[in-house]
Amino acid sequence: MKHFVIFAALLACSALTAHGQQTAKPEDTEYWTPVPAIVTPAKNMGEAPSDAIILFDGKNLDEWVATNDSTSAHKWKVADKAITVDKTAGDIQTKRKFMDFQLHIEYRIPSNITGKSQARGNSGIFLAALPWGAGGYELQVLDNYKNPTYVNGQVGSLYKQSPPLVNACRKPGEWQYYDVIWTAPRFNEDGTLKSAARATVLHNGVLVQNNTALKGDTPYIGQPEYRKHGAEPIKLQAHGDKSEPISYRNIWVREL
Ligand code: MG
Repeated sequence: MKHFVIFAALLACSALTAHGQQTAKPEDTEYWTPVPAIVTPAKNMGEAPSDAIILFDGKNLDEWVATNDSTSAHKWKVADKAITVDKTAGDIQTKRKFMDFQLHIEYRIPSNITGKSQARGNSGIFLAALPWGAGGYELQVLDNYKNPTYVNGQVGSLYKQSPPLVNACRKPGEWQYYDVIWTAPRFNEDGTLKSAARATVLHNGVLVQNNTALKGDTPYIGQPEYRKHGAEPIKLQAHGDKSEPISYRNIWVREL
């Protein structure tokens, strides 16, 4: 009797399954609109796809201004299709403001770099430049090829918040790159945080930040903090260390 009950139950289950397969169609789970926009990818890896905003293509810094004086032109020099940091002139930032984006940026630590720890090729990419506190959310740029420092401040870190998953840096003198997916933080009307900023970062094609949530801005001293803001510029850091200045090139962004 017991065996018969189990057999009957199994039979009922299989009938239900068979019934389900007969009524569900593949089309039930397909949709055809909206159709994703057609984007033509670049011929060569790292170059901008058709819908990108070019922030620097090797020619000029027309998309950029000095952070400390928006009325004056930046002083960073363009040569050999690259921008070199001018540490005396301060940070530069984009004229445009962005919320969520995909960013590609390449940098090179000079082959004659000197210094150690944080004083060796230090720069940084502020994924949103803010006019207070730490000045925004910094993705660290630093030479960490055989140059140890505190791990949450090494290259690929979201400064003092999240160390990179791995150290994927190349030797000084070689061009390196970041591909970043940035989701800006969102705020409530009253200024409180609605959703944290998030960053996914590939360094030289290697994942170093996997949808990391930020705790706030990225100060050198003290704790991260969120303050309400909207679309903001992207900023490049002129760090005050004494090591030889680094260069950037091939910078483009896709708004998401
Ligand atoms: Mg830095």
